[in-house]
Amino acid sequence: MQVSRNKVVVLATGGTIAGTAADPRDNIGYRAAQLGIAELLAAVPALQGLPLVAEQVAQIDSKDMSFDIWRTLALRCGHWLAQDDVCGLVITHGTDTLEETAFFLQSVLAPAKAVVLTCAMRPATALVPDGPQNLVDAVAVASTPGARGVVAVCAGTIHGAFDVAKQHTWRLDAFSSGDAGPIGYVEEGAVRRLRDWPGRDGDRPLGLDELSGVLRWPRVEIVMSHAGAGRAVVDALVAQGVDGLVVAATGNGTVHHELELALRQAQAGGIKVLRATRCAQGRILAHPDNALPEAGALSPVKARVRLMLELLRRPLRSRAPASPGR
Ligand code: ASP
Repeated sequence: MQVSRNKVVVLATGGTIAGTAADPRDNIGYRAAQLGIAELLAAVPALQGLPLVAEQVAQIDSKDMSFDIWRTLALRCGHWLAQDDVCGLVITHGTDTLEETAFFLQSVLAPAKAVVLTCAMRPATALVPDGPQNLVDAVAVASTPGARGVVAVCAGTIHGAFDVAKQHTWRLDAFSSGDAGPIGYVEEGAVRRLRDWPGRDGDRPLGLDELSGVLRWPRVEIVMSHAGAGRAVVDALVAQGVDGLVVAATGNGTVHHELELALRQAQAGGIKVLRATRCAQGRILAHPDNALPEAGALSPVKARVRLMLELLRRPLRSRAPASPGR
């Protein structure tokens, strides 16, 4: 029997989209993650009667996102994506770490159906909340035939997981895809696509089976290169037994010479180091003289996720503190 593939599953994790404030005029003094997904969906008339299934996976302000929640979320995505009658997933999420979750999920799922993260910049109690329209748009994208990969939908724009980044502190249209540009737009419920859905970017670093068996998450920290940067932070992290280091480098991947020396010594001592640019636009162009590998177009926070997943593929070093100077 042919199963009709039209169900959209909405997985909720909290965020401002589920936030409430005491005063409807207050768009910033609210508490994120207060309303459950059933309540959020019931408040949107345009979603009534659609074949939606809702599941509350977490209820957090996304600034507090954790690896354990990522794992639970990825496994729930894997479960629902495997159902024949499901055409796509929507994930409600806070805006603060949405891009990290999107990149993580694309890395471990590389899904053949759409996984659409959506969010809000104003709480559900605002005079004019943005969450309901974002939800409607996200369901439209998840239901679009041929849609695939992990994307983010906010303010009518579809961003791919590799490129999306929060770029504004309070505007409703807070996300950008930088140089790459958005995947498309949602126009009155229809997707106008400008470029391809996210595909596989090289190998899938880690599968769901491996993810479910992880006993210890690698510790990967981000250090920043800036005027006056030195080696002290790297030395302290190495002494604590850090597993990997991402440097948020200046410009085309340049690093303060004192910090670079410390990073090169850490690398020589077996710690994985990755250089990402702290510039909001552009990618690091590789040069054979660079001793520290570069993360291309990945931002420091996404480079950290990539490094973490790479480290999970191989046995982690012992956590015994190492000497700072190596
Ligand atoms: N702090 C909130 C969160 O990330 C911000 C938001 O959702 O816009 O959950």
